[in-house]
Amino acid sequence: MGRTKKVGTAGRYGARYGSTIRKAVAEIEVKMKAPHKCPYCYSVGKLKRIAVGIWYCRKCKTTFAGGAYVPLTGL
Ligand SMILES: [Zn+2]
Repeated sequence: MGRTKKVGTAGRYGARYGSTIRKAVAEIEVKMKAPHKCPYCYSVGKLKRIAVGIWYCRKCKTTFAGGAYVPLTGL
């Protein structure tokens, strides 16, 4: 239970859902947990996701559209 070497935090799903999906989840969760930088004021750790794809910066009070799990994608 918990985490595994191969699939990291997705190890909490045990043997369920298949290894491909668990690897994808693991990859997303690594990016999700990394500190995010606001694309407007460049402050780190101030972004909050209000909904899927909608991000809010507590520093400069900007709301903007971004990725589902990370503020910016495809960079
Ligand atoms: Zn900001």
